[in-house]
Amino acid sequence: MPLDPDAGGTWIRVDEYGRSLCILNGDQPVVPPPSEAPSRGTLVLELSECATLTEMHHLLKGRHADGLLAQRAFKLLIAELGANGLSATAALIEWNGRDVPRLWPLEGPCVLVSSAFDPAGVSAYRQSTFSCLSSMPTTDPDALAAAQSLWHASHAEDEPGGGTLSVCMHREEASTVSFTAVRVDAHRVQMTYQAGAPCEGARPVSVFLDTRGSRRR
Ligand SMILES: [Zn+2]
Repeated sequence: MPLDPDAGGTWIRVDEYGRSLCILNGDQPVVPPPSEAPSRGTLVLELSECATLTEMHHLLKGRHADGLLAQRAFKLLIAELGANGLSATAALIEWNGRDVPRLWPLEGPCVLVSSAFDPAGVSAYRQSTFSCLSSMPTTDPDALAAAQSLWHASHAEDEPGGGTLSVCMHREEASTVSFTAVRVDAHRVQMTYQAGAPCEGARPVSVFLDTRGSRRR
């Protein structure tokens, strides 16, 4: 996993059982964010210790009930390799900074977006472009991974410089600073990191782990 050099946490982690956790900023906060909030990245490390998704949700709900959930709003994606080594399950735990964290199951290919500007508009646009990719007439993992990389490096049709709707953003207020991809199958876990805006085409670096089958419960 990549480490945040300032806060010591991470925004994305995958383990040898093929379980991935990835944390995104929440959208427009329902309450002003605390000025001295602890890093959201440390949550990824902490929740990685939980055996199940239910345990993660329970931990966050308990912390919220005790008034100890002090991070800014977040969306936490959890994806896990199925017991057969082929299928996968995915879920989202979302916290808006005020209410009880909610758990959502996710179905099929989906796009999660974090946008403080226009969450619904940005999500709809990127979902529409991603749906072309996810309906490609191939199941070849290499072809799908290559298409996904191109999508992450893409600028919206009307935004050649990479504006708000673009997956690869170059705005003054916010920009894409790197691309991380996780790929898991029954034999191997691969994490690939590419520094800089994906459209700049820096050389990606990959690390690998052998998959260890189902997580012990
Ligand atoms: Zn770009």
